Amino acid sequence: MNKKTINPLYTIVLFITIFSCNTSTNTSSTSSNNPFEAKVDSIIKLMTLEEKLGQLNLPSSGDITTGQAQSSNIAKKIEEGKVGGLFNIKTVEKIRAVQQIAVEKSRLGIPLIFGMDVIHGYKTTFPIPLGLSTSWDMPMIEKTARVAAQEASADGINWTFSPMVDVSRDPRWGRISEGNGEDAYLGSQIAKAMVKGYQQDNLSDNNTLMSCVKHFALYGASEAGRDYNTVDMSKIRMYNEYLPPYKAAIDQGVGSVMASFNEIDGIPATGNKWLLTDLLRTDWKFNGFVVSDYTGVSEMIDHGMGDLQQVSALALSAGTDMDMVSEGFLNTLKKSVEEHKISIAEIDLAVKRILTAKYQLGLFDDPYKYCNEERAKTEIFTKENKDFARKVSAESMVLLKNENETLPLKKSGTIALIGPLANTAVNMAGTWSVATDQEKSITVLDGLKSVIGDKANINYAKGSNVDYDLTLEQRGTMFGKDIPRDNKTDKQLLDEALAIANKSDVIVATLGEAAEYSGESSSRTNLDIPQSQKDLLNALLKTGKPVVLVLFTGRPLVLVEEDKNVPAILNVWFPGSEAGLAIADVLFGDFNPSAKLTTTFPRHVGQIPLFYNHKNTGRPLGNTDGKFEKFRSNYLDVRNEPLYPFGYGLSYTTFKYSPIKLSKNNLNSTDTITVSVDVSNTGNYDGKEVVQLYIRDLIGTVTRPVKELKGFQKIFIKKGETVTVDFKISIEDLKFYNYDLDYIAEDGDFEIFVGTDSNTTRKAVITLTQ
Ligand code: BGC
Repeated sequence: MNKKTINPLYTIVLFITIFSCNTSTNTSSTSSNNPFEAKVDSIIKLMTLEEKLGQLNLPSSGDITTGQAQSSNIAKKIEEGKVGGLFNIKTVEKIRAVQQIAVEKSRLGIPLIFGMDVIHGYKTTFPIPLGLSTSWDMPMIEKTARVAAQEASADGINWTFSPMVDVSRDPRWGRISEGNGEDAYLGSQIAKAMVKGYQQDNLSDNNTLMSCVKHFALYGASEAGRDYNTVDMSKIRMYNEYLPPYKAAIDQGVGSVMASFNEIDGIPATGNKWLLTDLLRTDWKFNGFVVSDYTGVSEMIDHGMGDLQQVSALALSAGTDMDMVSEGFLNTLKKSVEEHKISIAEIDLAVKRILTAKYQLGLFDDPYKYCNEERAKTEIFTKENKDFARKVSAESMVLLKNENETLPLKKSGTIALIGPLANTAVNMAGTWSVATDQEKSITVLDGLKSVIGDKANINYAKGSNVDYDLTLEQRGTMFGKDIPRDNKTDKQLLDEALAIANKSDVIVATLGEAAEYSGESSSRTNLDIPQSQKDLLNALLKTGKPVVLVLFTGRPLVLVEEDKNVPAILNVWFPGSEAGLAIADVLFGDFNPSAKLTTTFPRHVGQIPLFYNHKNTGRPLGNTDGKFEKFRSNYLDVRNEPLYPFGYGLSYTTFKYSPIKLSKNNLNSTDTITVSVDVSNTGNYDGKEVVQLYIRDLIGTVTRPVKELKGFQKIFIKKGETVTVDFKISIEDLKFYNYDLDYIAEDGDFEIFVGTDSNTTRKAVITLTQ
């Protein structure tokens, strides 16, 4: 820091800092154990009301240029102490420039916090979160967050708006791509792994990020899958099925929470005191800070909660500490104080939480600690990180079908690579990859060529546009993810494809959604592969050549026809910056796929919401093999079961499970039962299997799901070998929130299922007596 230009008051602040206690802390802290309390209080005493409101203000910088950083309207506001942090501004140079204004030109010299949507990697991009979740590999998921934190912090960022842990059972909702699927238990494990990966044990290290769990709460349950729509659910469902992943992040020590756009029980989350104070702080003991989502405060005007002054006061009183973009806090809270609608104490509390976060990040020790040009040059998009991303991508590809061992492909002969997703770098990283240099991602065409060298011929043709409908295609390829149309007619595109298909030994059809068909505000009612590509696929199938469908998607799609007609389907989601290489690794068998779905794939949009851990109804259909039965719970036109269930995914090898062995049958409140199965690799490849444990509570004081995931292990088994997998069950695994929302277990019998996916029927029964 340049001491010559330093603001005198900043020196006072630093002086106070130095003479209070030590600056490193683990994560969020309670007021009783907040090591920064004295320092924070002493700063608050120096602040005017305007400066306090400034700390609560998080304007959008846009990605300003370095020149603008010093001269823009934002720069002026920073100088006036009206800004607490900025987000989605990139590079050390720009961040240093604006930090300098805050530290050297504002009256108190309080440093800014710099946030960003570092969602699935920074420059090195990993699969979209839904894809990553299908790896079921917690240490690896944690490491992706670690690598993202290392890269982002080397570029000036110290706060990430991740993880997104919204449980969703609605693939129409575009943001299902940003979460971890439909299961609260798996989602909780992932929430913990991500927070740990970002924050590690000391937030003040210069290579960690403060994490922000979002979107609190229930955002994934928007009615009809339409983004930002109303959420309305019973408390019992909320507590058992939607809240656990947020709570897991809090228990892991996440530093901040983002309020969601939706309403809960008729009150938008941003202004919902029950949610942000009673539940989050009183019950869950969260002591970090809460930020609104983008214009979440002012959007409450449209929700019908009042004018900007009213909704801003509502948000602050409810427990929102920082106002992202609306500037309602900045511009109206003073008036609300004067009119006694809110108190200075409420403002001070929010300021205290934000200053504490800045202390935790070490910004008062060195506001430029994340601005290291050398690190920015050497620690971002490194070979090591890219190699890791390639492995992660392969670990996250789900083999949905593989008839007659169509896959893996031989590294010989002639391969026709066809489809609008085959040669587009900018679509590989997927939605919410704001820091990535999209054009540096590896296309499928380049990846295949690179892995195969001159051992086989690869011929490429686009074959069709993403969609017949140009308007729809443009909506799905925005933000620079365009796939140029080349002025060719549909027939010309198809003829080119058929010409190379007919000369090939095998066809790799690279189809599906473009990157922006999913993500924020990208809801769909039709979950088919777009018709232009379906027509292409059917024409390719008619050639009689073997076809492998490499499917790009940000959500579960309806794949009934493809499942019927295409011999092999590999779902690659959006694999990230090393996409093409990882796809080649899997297609050619250098990597044996092991990913398993974390969302149910329906047979028809009309089945939605469709999820594995549903309740039974009083008229369950039973096992009719899909046959309709009058006056049972089913449809006239579509069978109940999904096309691919939760937990499903194939391997190039096969696994056989033994019957379940129990160490004993009776459980009390202090002991454990060991559940064991022998899993044998009975195929021709070494491989990994995700062994899944589900429990059904047979009788309860409230109705209980037909099955709930309660454990899993991802294990490697060499071909021909058998591994014994043990799970320990205790009373904790049998607990749930009852009608009074008490977290308890009830005595009685429980079915224990162990198997390869949620359809498994291999079971045993245990009895709990407390
Ligand atoms: C999204 C958030 C995101 C924020 C900041 C909002 O539109 O809902 O997930 O973190 O923008 O970019």
